[in-house]
Parts: sequence; C-alpha cells; structure tokens
Amino acid sequence: MVARVVPVDPFDLVVFGATGDLARRKLIPALYHRMHDGQAPEGARIVGAARADLDADGYRRMADAALTEFVAPADLDAASREIFLKAIDYVPVDIGGDDGWTALGEALPEHGSSRPRAFYLSLAPRFFGPAAARVKSEGLAGAEGRIVVEKPFGHDLGSARALNAALAGAFDEHHVYRIDHYLGKETVQNLMALRFANALFEPLWNNHHIDHVQITVAESVGVEGRGPYYDGVGAMRDMVQNHLLQLLCLIAMEPPAHFEPDAVRDEKVKVLRALAPLSSAENVVRGQYAGAGASASYAEDAQSPDSRTESYIALKAEVANWRWSGVPFYLRTGKRLRGRMSEIAVAFKPAPHSIFPGGGKVGQNVLAIRLQPDEGITLGMTIKDPGPGGLRLAPAVLDMTFAEAMRGAPSLRMPDAYERLVMDVIRGDQTLFMRGDECEAAWSWVDPIIAAWEERGDRPAAYDPGSSGPDDALMLLHRDGRRWREIAP
Ligand code: NAP
Repeated sequence: MVARVVPVDPFDLVVFGATGDLARRKLIPALYHRMHDGQAPEGARIVGAARADLDADGYRRMADAALTEFVAPADLDAASREIFLKAIDYVPVDIGGDDGWTALGEALPEHGSSRPRAFYLSLAPRFFGPAAARVKSEGLAGAEGRIVVEKPFGHDLGSARALNAALAGAFDEHHVYRIDHYLGKETVQNLMALRFANALFEPLWNNHHIDHVQITVAESVGVEGRGPYYDGVGAMRDMVQNHLLQLLCLIAMEPPAHFEPDAVRDEKVKVLRALAPLSSAENVVRGQYAGAGASASYAEDAQSPDSRTESYIALKAEVANWRWSGVPFYLRTGKRLRGRMSEIAVAFKPAPHSIFPGGGKVGQNVLAIRLQPDEGITLGMTIKDPGPGGLRLAPAVLDMTFAEAMRGAPSLRMPDAYERLVMDVIRGDQTLFMRGDECEAAWSWVDPIIAAWEERGDRPAAYDPGSSGPDDALMLLHRDGRRWREIAP
C-alpha cells in the first residue's frame, strides 16, 4: 500500500502499442498498482490497441502474464487482479491504415462527456504525429482528450519542431503530455519540496555558497539488444538532452510564483535558454566501452565495427545567469560503467576558515539527491569524531533515505515513476511533463555540440567496461581541482 492516495475520477485510457515492451513492463503494472491502491477507480476503462489480432480475452491474458512477470508477488492479490483485468479491453488498430478505427470509437462510448480521456502513444516515434492526427480526425478525443507522447521527442531541433507542429495540429498544448519518466521519480519531486518548502537551502542556493554541481546517470549494462537502434542516437541524445538537462533545470531554476504547471515550466525554460554554448572540445568528453573477456565491446553490441557513437559522455555546462555564474555543472552518463547510479550532488564551498589546527580536515558539505538505487537524500557534514580522544573532525552523513523514513510503515512501497505520471495525466496536471518549448530549448543547446564534434570528426575514447569512464572525463574535473563522486559497484 502507498499512503494517502487521492482517487482520480473514472477515466478512459487508450494505450496504443499495448502489446509492446513498455506497455507490458511499465504501463500495465503501473495501472494495476494504482487500481490495487484504490487510486484508479473500478469504473476506469483501459483499452489496448495494436495491430496484433487479439480479442479482449486474448489481451487480458497478455496483461495477466505481464502482472505475473513485472509485479512483486506480495503486491498481487486475486481480487485486485480480477477487478483490474475486467477494466481492460482491446481493439486491433493499424495506425497507418484504416483497420480498427471504427471499432476503437465503438469501444469508447460517451465521448463529449466530462470523463477524462487519454491516448498513450507507446509507439515508435514515427507514429506520434500520425496517431495524434488520426485520433483527432476520428473525433475520439473530444474537447478535453489528452495525448501522451513517449521519448525520444525528436532527434534534433528540426525534428522536434516538426513533431511539435504535428501534435499542435491535433491537440492544444495544454492537452499534450511529453513523458520524461525521471520527472516522475519520488526524489525528483522531493528535490522541489526540499528547495521550495524549506527556508534552509534557498539563501545558500547560489554562486556565493555552491562550488559546483555533479549530475551522474551511470548504468552497469551495455546497450544490450538495443544496439542497432542506439547506434544512431548515442548518450547525448538518449540521456543528456532530456533526463540530465531536466535534472539540471530543477536544481538551477528560480522559485516559481506558484506550484502550477506553466509557472514551473516557464522557470525551467529560462534555465535551458541560459545555458552557455559549449563550443570548446575540452569541455565535452565522449567515450565508447571496449570489450574485455566475455564482455562485448560497444561496436560488437551495436553491430557497427566502425561506430563513432558515444556510449558515454561527460561535459561541463554553465548556466550563464546572475545566480549561477561561475558554478560549473558537470554532467556525465554512460553505459557499462562500474555500477548503476543516478545522482545529483550539490557541493558547497568549504568553510572559509578552519579554527581546528591539527584537529582534522574541514570537509565540503555535499547535498546528494539519489534517484537510484535507494532513492533518498543525504547531506555530507563534518562533525566531531565521537569519543574522548580530543576534538578531531570526521565526515558524517545525514541520511534522509526514504526507506529509512518509512521504517515505521513497512507496508509502504515506493511507486514507480509511471504510476505517478499516468495519474497526473488523468488529473490533467502537466507539471511533471515537458512543454514543447522546453524540448526545443534543450535541442537548441545540444545540436551545436553534436555538430561541432561531427565537424571535427571526433572519435569517442575507449574505456574499460566496469570502469568510471574514459580518463579524459577524470581530467575534466581534475584540471578544475575537483573530483567526480565515486560510482559504487
Ligand atoms: P515495442 O516493444 O517495439 O512496441 C511497439 C508497439 O507498437 C507494439 O505494441 C506494436 O504492436 C505497436 N505497433 C507497431 N506498429 C503499429 C501500427 N502500425 N499500428 C498500431 N500499433 C503498432 O516498443 P516499446 O519498447 O514498447 O516502446 C514504445 C515507445 O516507448 C517508443 O517510442 C520508445 O522509444 C518508448 N520508450 C520505451 C521504453 C522501454 O523501456 N521499452 C522506455 C522509454 C521510452 P503490433 O506489432 O502488434 O502492432
């Protein structure tokens, strides 16, 4: 059980791509959990749509198998399962053809009513525009219907603009929900609570007190079966343009006047537009994992022996505004690294003067916001080393790990990001979704960086699998007198 759920109104949710990996691994389990916890009401209707020639019972069997595979046994009970499966319907639909659209309309009676209705495009990106247009032209959405779009949102600024234009042709921006599942994580929202619901940090949240910020998204796995797809993309487009820049925005944004979708997104866009152009090659390090023993190299995984795609990137960004001038934001993300870790670390400037000669080193306070594993927030402090041995200083960590905070309520489960995001769509709350201009602003910063390395013909540096990335990435911080935080195995 999750505490304090606020039920949403009965809704219709059409999942296009209902037989695909994302739907089975994330969306079906997320919807089950919300119903199990009493947030999604029994009157909700979930309509799967894909080309596969299934009837409703056939799709229910597929959904049931997905629950068995992707929901923890402790959270599966027969009664909730039955109620959930009853809410599911399925219609074979071909996005590119005429098959199924009339039947889909018939599976969705009551349009025009005030019942929330959403269309989740869990489809390859080339279908986003055509699916939105068809939903509109078939009159399925009504005046208030919402469309949910998965990542990737474009490949560059031009394609993102074209996609925004295609969506705008069918749906008002206030009905478009661009998913970045990082924004649905509990800790990310806690970051906003930490910053804007506590008076403690705001006076320190600027270049007078913050030395630098590190944002790390490290994965221990390689590109696995996605190699050929990933090879045309790379870490900059796959991770930095969306997830890492979104995290940077939440750290760097000004306090919005209200916690209201456009007020929050206005502030995030300002951060993206304040990013200084990154023209210098020395502030961007690209890497590609090598092979070792039985562990395949990136080029082998991608089936592209001469690939120049980066599986790792580290860069030093600058938010060129009054608050952040002179504070580097170091971003890094990569595959087949030493461990799996997503973290934002805000490193404060050291105390200006130590009054403890010989008593120990005065450390740097670091506020670390961990997204995975073990979502939580820690604050690194310097304290007196306990005991009678005189006043010596020692590092200590104030730990706000949520699992600890929830110790008194062992039945509490940390909801997956998709659970929160799907419920926000139904509630009509766009706060945690990217607005079209945000996506374009992010691409506007990223495109010239990619263009510069393509023009130079740069090759990514090889790095050992299980390492922390290429040596040049270490130098990116060393030459500023700083170090990356450790990626734990
Ligand atoms: P997938 O496994 O390839 O599934 C694609 C779905 O689209 C299938 O249900 C397929 O069913 C359906 N489909 C294909 N052509 C169609 C057509 N012409 N008309 C109607 N349905 C059609 O892809 P996925 O991994 O679930 O990814 C879906 C989207 O989510 C993509 O945009 C992806 O980038 C994004 N995403 C996925 C993940 C993930 O973890 N998987 C994570 C982040 C983002 P039929 O073949 O039966 O039609």
